[in-house]
Amino acid sequence: MTLKELLSLRKVPYNEKQTERITRAFEFAKKAHASQKRKSGEKYFTHCVETASTLVKMGLGSITVSSALLHDVPEDTDVPLKQIEKEFGQEIAFIVAGVTKLGKVRLKGSLEEYYLDNLRKMFLAMAADIRVVLIKLADRLHNMRTLYALPEDKQQRIAKETMEVFVPIANRFGIGEIKGELEDLAFKYLDRKNYEKVKKIESEEFKNRVRYIKCAIKELKKEIKKENIKVLDIHGRAKHQYRLYLKLRKYDMDISKIYDLVAIRILVPTVASCYETLGIVHKKYKPLIGRIKDYISLPRPNGYKSLHTTVFGPEGKIIEIQIRTQRMHDEAEYGIAAHWIYSQGSTWKDFLFLRRNGYNIPKEELQWVEQMKQWHTETGGRSDEFWRSLKIDFFKNHIFVFTPKGDVIDLPESATPIDFAYRIHSEVGNRTTGAKVNRKMVSLDYTVRNGDLIEVMVSKEKKLPNRDWLNFVKTAYARSKIKGALKKGGITVV
Ligand code: MN
Repeated sequence: MTLKELLSLRKVPYNEKQTERITRAFEFAKKAHASQKRKSGEKYFTHCVETASTLVKMGLGSITVSSALLHDVPEDTDVPLKQIEKEFGQEIAFIVAGVTKLGKVRLKGSLEEYYLDNLRKMFLAMAADIRVVLIKLADRLHNMRTLYALPEDKQQRIAKETMEVFVPIANRFGIGEIKGELEDLAFKYLDRKNYEKVKKIESEEFKNRVRYIKCAIKELKKEIKKENIKVLDIHGRAKHQYRLYLKLRKYDMDISKIYDLVAIRILVPTVASCYETLGIVHKKYKPLIGRIKDYISLPRPNGYKSLHTTVFGPEGKIIEIQIRTQRMHDEAEYGIAAHWIYSQGSTWKDFLFLRRNGYNIPKEELQWVEQMKQWHTETGGRSDEFWRSLKIDFFKNHIFVFTPKGDVIDLPESATPIDFAYRIHSEVGNRTTGAKVNRKMVSLDYTVRNGDLIEVMVSKEKKLPNRDWLNFVKTAYARSKIKGALKKGGITVV
């Protein structure tokens, strides 16, 4: 890939200053890696460009992309980090150093320890600068794409690590595209037999599906146009293989039961037009009962938004249709990166302006990383127990619940009203006397569910939490706050 090709991958072009920076990083890395080759026989520099290209496609700024181009220079060439700092400044040197540190993984102890160690490093890097982790994800993606060139034991270790560490992180960041591809690539190495099986089943059915999806797209386009809604894009999307495998397993490997092998995706301008479009779709094709999912008013745990419906399409065949806005689409593909861009500008114009001018990532947008950082400082974070519970807090499936004011709070699955209360504020937690879920009184160990409206009752007189809460709280955050408050109040906690 040439520099020109790399730069052209961005929807909104880089400005002069950004282009200049990326160009310098490109030439610098190319020279530094000049004599090196990858195991695949390719020039080493190809890897740097491929890693950067993923981030360019995500719309990231020139600092991130330049750092990606330089990410293997200090580790794999004679050029020291100091030189990078001199040429490109502190910010880029800091990010490159972060990526280099992440690469050094301890390889002793059990596999579980190894993954925990990896996760721990990722978290610390995230807290320092999230761009480090984005580069690491892009780096892993290219390493997985070229994994065939490595010996088998390495393939197995890297593929497993991808599933255990990188897939959950991509998922938590909501970067659907990377998550899906990483999973498919790892699946291929970890379970070759089933991978081949799925591929065979898929290829036999795929052409048929694409044929009648095309026909449905044509019909739908016409119907939506009649109602004066602007269709920004309408296309078919193929299901990722690993996800397909998990679904097939549930249905005795019967592909006729999988309605979303190829789904139709419709992009329209506004939330209102999403619902209107859903109505139009249902007028044309009869929906299946119980298959309409409104992830706009109730987003999925990782923030995914869309309307999904399954309908009897052309020839009476069943197809899934997904309706969303451009913003929801970008957020589903690029996750956290898109979120930053949008959170800075309230309008599409602002957004385009920001993209054109590059942007820095405001760390305060990443509430959960901040929270983790704070918690890490408070508890010291030395033990493996700490990291294990951290894994539960942040990587367990998350649910969304509402405060009485309608604010959305995300909690791990199986959290209780006490976890919710501490999430609001530790004082609210300490003073909690009771809780209502969806306006009904519940016990404090109640398991909250996605979409619940939670209200906690507090008492001014109450200063200390109850000791028995420790028996059922789910988040390590609430647990540490309860222990801290009890200790302060002179109550011994084992
Ligand atoms: Mn690399």
